[in-house]
Amino acid sequence: MHDEALNAAGEVINITQVRRGGLPTKGWRCAGESPHGDQCLRPVTACAVDSKFKAPYFAGSHIDGCSRRSKRSDDKPGDRGYVTTAGPRVSQWRVSVDDSPSIGLSGRRRPDDAVPGSRTQRSSFDRAAPPSEVEEPHALSAFLDAALHGHTPERAALPAGPLRKGVDLIVAAADASAARFDDGELIVWGRVVAFRETPYGGTMLVLDGAADGLGVLIKGDLRGYYPLADDAEFIGRYVMTYGRRLGSDARPYVAVPKPRAAAFSPTVHVRALPRHRDGSK
Ligand SMILES: [Zn+2]
Repeated sequence: MHDEALNAAGEVINITQVRRGGLPTKGWRCAGESPHGDQCLRPVTACAVDSKFKAPYFAGSHIDGCSRRSKRSDDKPGDRGYVTTAGPRVSQWRVSVDDSPSIGLSGRRRPDDAVPGSRTQRSSFDRAAPPSEVEEPHALSAFLDAALHGHTPERAALPAGPLRKGVDLIVAAADASAARFDDGELIVWGRVVAFRETPYGGTMLVLDGAADGLGVLIKGDLRGYYPLADDAEFIGRYVMTYGRRLGSDARPYVAVPKPRAAAFSPTVHVRALPRHRDGSK
């Protein structure tokens, strides 16, 4: 269940952009990479774009070892899974930052259709059923896209955190005061207007109108995951990440915790493996 694909120009497209913008469902390419850093680029199609019952996603074929290829579920061969009844979805989003193979939520790539199993879940949709409280995993780019369009999920959670009210967890940089961080980690977003290089090869992104001058730090060991050769190319993009408020009161910041825990708009493709800025590995 992946949110992201590439367009013909190699730019990252989010499934929410396809849904909201009425973009074609076909013509996209897989954004995954092999463990050696080869791009997959096989055709993928946007699925369930108009569904009220399940979250939309990109699906398609993949090269061997693609990071976004679906795995078979744990069920044994000859296993048709068990059926659950699902009603309309409530807006309950959890940040997903691992570019790892997915086991379809509803048993996609189930081994066989003949025998019931206990682990693979298949949904039977019923409009009269109560709204389901199923969490939807979404890439951070989907959160950023939603924030930029004034949508906040009713409830939201960090990868390992509890569900909170979306408006409490997802905060524009201008509102990200020290007091808002009292409960721990926040999802913060804003527009990059400048940058500073840090002593250990990192990049501090300066956000427009941020409370207390809050910045977003990309540490030196993460910088190579983002294929922008020059830090100045971050300027003008929106960025979203999450974490605690670090640094001094005079220069607070949130440090990007892992490569896919930063999203940009216009999008920046996150590499599976870091490279030096000149393109070498
Ligand atoms: Zn792929």
